[in-house]
Amino acid sequence: MHDVNILGCGPAGLLAAHAVAEHGLSFKIFSKKRKSFLYGAQFLAYEVPGLNLEFRQTFFQQWGKASDYAIKVYGQAYHGPLNPILTKAWDIRDAYRKLWDLYSDRIENVCIDPKWVVNNLPDAAFTFSTIPAPALCTTAVHTFGVRNIWVAGDAPDRGQFVSIECPEDTVIVNAFPEPAWYKVSKVFGYKTVEWPDGPIAPDEPGVVHHGKPLFSNCTCWPNIIRTGRFGRWNKGVLAHAGYFDVKDVLERRKTAADFRPHEQWCPVATSGDSNDGCTCYLIRQGT
Ligand SMILES: Cc1cc2nc3c(=O)[nH]c(=O)nc-3n(C[C@H](O)[C@H](O)[C@H](O)COP(=O)(O)OP(=O)(O)OC[C@H]3O[C@@H](n4cnc5c(N)ncnc54)[C@H](O)[C@@H]3O)c2cc1C
Repeated sequence: MHDVNILGCGPAGLLAAHAVAEHGLSFKIFSKKRKSFLYGAQFLAYEVPGLNLEFRQTFFQQWGKASDYAIKVYGQAYHGPLNPILTKAWDIRDAYRKLWDLYSDRIENVCIDPKWVVNNLPDAAFTFSTIPAPALCTTAVHTFGVRNIWVAGDAPDRGQFVSIECPEDTVIVNAFPEPAWYKVSKVFGYKTVEWPDGPIAPDEPGVVHHGKPLFSNCTCWPNIIRTGRFGRWNKGVLAHAGYFDVKDVLERRKTAADFRPHEQWCPVATSGDSNDGCTCYLIRQGT
């Protein structure tokens, strides 16, 4: 028997494993065993101990008004906050490489759904989940708000580089209608670009359609502690949450209840229908 179950082996799952390992507890990782591509991820915004990561101070440029930026990214109906500007950066790609070397031999390759949780999830003192929250949801009543975007990033191992220019160690957010992208960054030599959703993919190598989780009202599995952007399914959660959330729980500063997803600003969260004119889309279990 081990102390902790961790679901998911992306950056958040392996950062969770790192926090558990530092705490001296035993753990197993259950996940589809594949290395995540880090679509759009630019940097770790907080230092994670024990990984010896390079630090960079980044520069921030804002083109246009913040309110226009919010509309460009999230649509006219958006009335919520924008994420704070974070300018301290640690290398997320190097972190994930090191974490994979440290912990990938603990990953059991499984496909998780509610039936698997009932039949196969081992007893343990804690279970932390970083897999996308809809995969664990047991009812069609719960909703998951998502904002689709287009995203492309440098992937030197695949010979893929985005063409949009950006100075070194800089993040630019663009509220103007042109150019069409709303964010470009170049940090630790890697460029990433994000565009608002639209029917036609931007003309850039390796561009993918990707969903930004925004909010959820899912209350399934109250004893499974959710962390990471996809586990918590909330706007603003970044990869480092996988480490710091787990540390907070193990040090008894927080409990599972602190990590329940919650509904945010979006009007469709209460109307319950998918929408065209609004800012985000709802995924429903079973659809
Ligand atoms: C455009 C964009 C930009 C972002 N930029 C940043 C950034 O700069 N910095 C930052 O810290 N965060 C950023 N984030 C947030 C997020 O932290 C990163 O996307 C991060 O790479 C996600 O890591 P993760 O481990 O949470 O998810 P993933 O890497 O997606 O990992 C999920 C894991 O769950 C597994 N899994 C999924 N479904 C199942 C299933 N049914 N059964 C078993 N296993 C399953 C997968 O195999 C995978 O191992 C960004 C997010 C987006 C969308």
